[in-house]
Amino acid sequence: MYSDVSLFIDGAWGPAAAGRTLTVLNPATGEPLGTLAHADRGDLDRALAAAERGFHTWRKVSAFERSKVMRKAAAILRERADSIARLMTMEQGKPLAEAKGELGVASDVIEWFAEEARRAYGRVVPARAEGVYQLVLKEPVGPVAAFTPWNFPINQAVRKMSAALAAGCSIILKGPEETPASCAELVRAYADAGVPAGVINLVYGTPAEISEYLIPHPVIRKISFTGSTAVGKQLSALAGLHMKRVTMELGGHAPAIVFDDADIDQASKILAANKFRNAGQVCVSPTRFLVQEKVYEQFVDKFTTIAKGLKVGDGLAADTQMGPLANERRITAMEGFIADATQKGAEVKTGGKRIGNKGNFFEPTVLTNLNRDMRVMNEEPFGPLALMVPFREFDEVVAEANRLPFGLASYAWTRSAKTATAVAAAVEAGMMSINHHGLALPEVPFGGIKDSGYGSEGGLEAMEAYFNTKFVTQASL
Ligand code: NAD
Repeated sequence: MYSDVSLFIDGAWGPAAAGRTLTVLNPATGEPLGTLAHADRGDLDRALAAAERGFHTWRKVSAFERSKVMRKAAAILRERADSIARLMTMEQGKPLAEAKGELGVASDVIEWFAEEARRAYGRVVPARAEGVYQLVLKEPVGPVAAFTPWNFPINQAVRKMSAALAAGCSIILKGPEETPASCAELVRAYADAGVPAGVINLVYGTPAEISEYLIPHPVIRKISFTGSTAVGKQLSALAGLHMKRVTMELGGHAPAIVFDDADIDQASKILAANKFRNAGQVCVSPTRFLVQEKVYEQFVDKFTTIAKGLKVGDGLAADTQMGPLANERRITAMEGFIADATQKGAEVKTGGKRIGNKGNFFEPTVLTNLNRDMRVMNEEPFGPLALMVPFREFDEVVAEANRLPFGLASYAWTRSAKTATAVAAAVEAGMMSINHHGLALPEVPFGGIKDSGYGSEGGLEAMEAYFNTKFVTQASL
């Protein structure tokens, strides 16, 4: 059952001091599910004081012990996965199988960072003089302020929290107000595993009020944000003004390049599955399908058939393949993109409309006859829209792939090793997946370049973001 969501500050769950609350809606029905506590300045001050104390406690806990507590949290999350997945589907809309998948990945993420915690080595640099030791030490950067969105309520939070904790930092997480209960269950798993009071603090409220207060605050030493490019730029500017380290995971507009020697059956199946996963509300979602002329019709037909056949419905129903959009704003955004594109000559191959008048359901949509003047060809749709664009030559497709200021995920399909190597080198993106979908595993880098952000939330690089490097040189007397 869905119950009201509290703040978690200094090791205790409770309401906001001023008693303010927000309502959480079920995107499949539009009905209220419960409330969440809305933090005010006083709650943030308590969280800051707790995070400062928590940092001094946690940084002294050995990496060996931190790792043990983290692995326990992963085990607790696995035990509770079924019930937490239901909460996630109720508040976010994604099909239950996807929610369960997200819980599984979250436990994998915690376990991976738990292991990395024990291998956060520094190094010894050979000295010029005898008797001198030159030591490079890794120290936790300090209390972290993290801001995570509603599309993956647990996975956006677990990467930041686990990397921070593995490094020895404390954290104040501003969780997603629209999907708060599943994110709170992640925090509960950590708390129940024995993370000391103050090390993790969870707040919800008005995002801009919280970020404007926490980012400049002297207690906070590191900022991590996942969300839109527009907001990421504002927060980076504020962090820069106060000399705070940042990790920014922002928007994308992923090109999926299909060359005429690709396996079209496999490409259409795997790309369609990834396009409509989480109703397209995924930063690495394939968006511009750039397909070589010879196979264009064939690819578009196969892809459109798959899109038409998807069962859209309440994520709790066993046969649902795509749930509702997470909030009403996404429906308005989809309608706006499609109206603008069709007015400028785009053709709707399938979909294009809202389904029913209850809940935020939208048809899986495929558009053709697109041009660069259309908004959807330039702005991140963040929804179930697939844009089909034919191309002739390698250089032409690379120019289109790199045309936008985004540089997060990219995809390519080809049977030629030469083309695969060339396209991986030419596309400006933080990640490229060739002939399969292989992004977002805990052990590999995850992040963007250009307007898609800065830093990584996977692989060794993710831990680095939570360390300061200290150099110590010592001579024997
Ligand atoms: P939005 O830009 O208002 O918010 C995006 C996220 O940023 C939300 O989680 C929100 O709480 C947070 N946010 C907004 N203003 C903030 C501030 N001043 N300080 C701190 N946090 C702030 O838009 P939205 O309608 O919630 O989402 C739509 C757009 O956001 C999408 O088009 C997509 O580009 C982007 N988005 C990206 C991701 C991602 O995984 N990278 C996830 C969710 C949303």
